Amino acid sequence: MSDDVDRAVTADGVADARMATLPKVELHVHLEGTISARTAADLAIARGDDPADVLVLDTERTDGPNYPHPFRDFLHFVDTFLASSAQVRGPADLRTITAAFAAGQVEQGVRWSETTFTAVTMEQRGWTPAAMWTALIDGLATQPGTHVGFILDTPRDLGPEVARRSVALASDALAAGLPVVALGLTGIEGSVPAQEFTLLRDAADELGIGLVVHAGETGSAQDVMDALDVLGSDRIGHGIAAAADPALLARIAEDGTVLEVCPSSNVTLGIVASLDVHPIRALRDAGVALTVNSDDPPFFATTLTAELHHAVRLLDLDEARLAALQRRAIDASFAPAALRAEVHAAIDAWLRAG
Ligand SMILES: [Zn+2]
Repeated sequence: MSDDVDRAVTADGVADARMATLPKVELHVHLEGTISARTAADLAIARGDDPADVLVLDTERTDGPNYPHPFRDFLHFVDTFLASSAQVRGPADLRTITAAFAAGQVEQGVRWSETTFTAVTMEQRGWTPAAMWTALIDGLATQPGTHVGFILDTPRDLGPEVARRSVALASDALAAGLPVVALGLTGIEGSVPAQEFTLLRDAADELGIGLVVHAGETGSAQDVMDALDVLGSDRIGHGIAAAADPALLARIAEDGTVLEVCPSSNVTLGIVASLDVHPIRALRDAGVALTVNSDDPPFFATTLTAELHHAVRLLDLDEARLAALQRRAIDASFAPAALRAEVHAAIDAWLRAG
């Protein structure tokens, strides 16, 4: 964890012990983005590779393998991310990283997570869909204390044909009993126009699941508008570019569009200069329904708990407002109704215990 994260974690108004027991909800976290540098190195070593040859690591660190921090730019992050996820070479590895992810969510008191998984990329490595679904289901089964819904995404730079394959995979996964809650559109903004991906909205409706689009992260307010108007995205992944456009801000506040804000991700990728100038305050002041998320936590030297501490500090939240932030997240989720009720009840109990 970086010095910046350490400082912020202790400099806010909700005690660590209370934060630890808060029932949490996370809507924006990538499964392949939860692979720690240690896990990636161990997977490499297990097959006889030198981690320094196959991973992008911070060579200055002496306390074990660690990703660079901060990244030089978005592509430096993408290279680091892809080198790490390339270590997941078979279903046994996928099960390992899924179980590790779920254990980390349990440790933080996360009751419900919506986790993006790029099944098309794994399939391109020659895996059968059935083997993937079994690995994910078995990995989750090791941690019954948390619940996960998967978002099967298409990196937009791969184009609409790959999106069509993602839809087929989502349909297959649902039939196999994997809890898929939405389709996703991720990847490099501006690479392929939103209009090319309207098939995703139709397919989501047909499958009875949601659609969540990353927009306005490295892109513009126009990308956010396209995600809403062209694609009918149910929420917006990031969306911070909306802060630069008062008319769009007013509109998404009015519509109650939920943004999945990931503060440390934006800072580590150099999209925002620091947490202190992050537009999260401007979004909140405009009345936007925001949630707080970790995105790719070990790559950004963070956790969901650390991101919630940042929110407490940056938005000056008390316990009631922090609880409301988590209620909003479960209300904006695709979780089953019974689980949503359970999370609300757990938050009620947490507030009473304060
Ligand atoms: Zn993301």
